[in-house]
Amino acid sequence: MKNIAIFGSTGSIGKNTLSVARKLSNRFKVVGLSTNSDIKTLSTQIREFRPLFVCVRDKEAALKLKRALSSRVKIFAGEEGLVELAEEKRISQFVFAISGSAALEPLLSAIKSNKDIALANKEALVMAGPLIMRMAAKARVRIIPVDSEQSAIWQCLEGQEKQKLRTIYLTASGGPLLNKSKTALRRISISSVLKHPRWKMGKKITVDSATLMNKGLEFIEAMFLFNVGWDKIKILVHPEALIHSMVEFVDGVVLAQLSATDMRIPIQYALSYPERLNSSLSRLDFYRLKSLNFRRPDTLKFPCLGLAYQAAKELGTLPAVMNAANEIAVEEFLKERLSFIMIPEVVARVMRKHRNISSPGLNDIREADSWARREAHRFIN
Ligand code: MG
Repeated sequence: MKNIAIFGSTGSIGKNTLSVARKLSNRFKVVGLSTNSDIKTLSTQIREFRPLFVCVRDKEAALKLKRALSSRVKIFAGEEGLVELAEEKRISQFVFAISGSAALEPLLSAIKSNKDIALANKEALVMAGPLIMRMAAKARVRIIPVDSEQSAIWQCLEGQEKQKLRTIYLTASGGPLLNKSKTALRRISISSVLKHPRWKMGKKITVDSATLMNKGLEFIEAMFLFNVGWDKIKILVHPEALIHSMVEFVDGVVLAQLSATDMRIPIQYALSYPERLNSSLSRLDFYRLKSLNFRRPDTLKFPCLGLAYQAAKELGTLPAVMNAANEIAVEEFLKERLSFIMIPEVVARVMRKHRNISSPGLNDIREADSWARREAHRFIN
């Protein structure tokens, strides 16, 4: 029996993780849950799973929950509450399903408490990848990817000699705007951006999928997760999203990982790793599959990808700056204060203005992050 705690249990990945845990309740016990402010969903989850600990990041919402709840679950509150949850001894594995930079501090605490981590959040690794991976190696903590692409690469590399890896093909569905023209992007609405053709996900990641920044974040994340240089990773647009990524070795052999487009599949593997467990989820039917298509990503139409390549090459504090500016731009886009095509403009502008620090410490990263947020806001205003 594994005791798991989910950071971000009320979001899309969080709910999918609970759905996996519900089906495999003989293997996984949910002992911790957290939400930003959605205490309604959290209350329902508390009633069903009876965790020992919960955390609500919004302090007012945490108070409300405390007043409403009759069960004896321990409630943490605020950013510091997330860190306290990460330090709880009775948890054997953490699932990081919160989106954005908010995951960084609790992730660092979770690593320090020597517990394995199933990681769905991308932003923390993009911000502080080398630091996180070094800390994890030192603490002998396994960081197991949840994201479908990283999980695919992880599975393809399993048992292989890392030095024999030639290329990682990071696949991309292309997002909801793949076939729109560059001029159509000028007047694209929020609702068409939020309609992803393959995956149902949270708002931030869906906007990132539309700008292709999501793939850019994954590109940088893969460099750290698999310890490879930017020149070893190629992004491949694959609209069917059935091949979740591939790796090519020096002898020309390519291994691919395929499965139905359902996040619960990589989530289950991240929880059960290194074991494979039975699953009743949908399976691929190759007799009904018509074709698999591939093409090169269009960096002119989707400039965020080019910005991510630049951050990947320069590293230092630049990926954190890119990420922070993007988080603000996406927030403002969702509030209808910024147009879709201005998202990469904001990110590019903040990146251009940044004085990069190579081999940064945690404080350099935190400072670069808040500087970039201020700059992004200033530019938008
Ligand atoms: Mg992905």
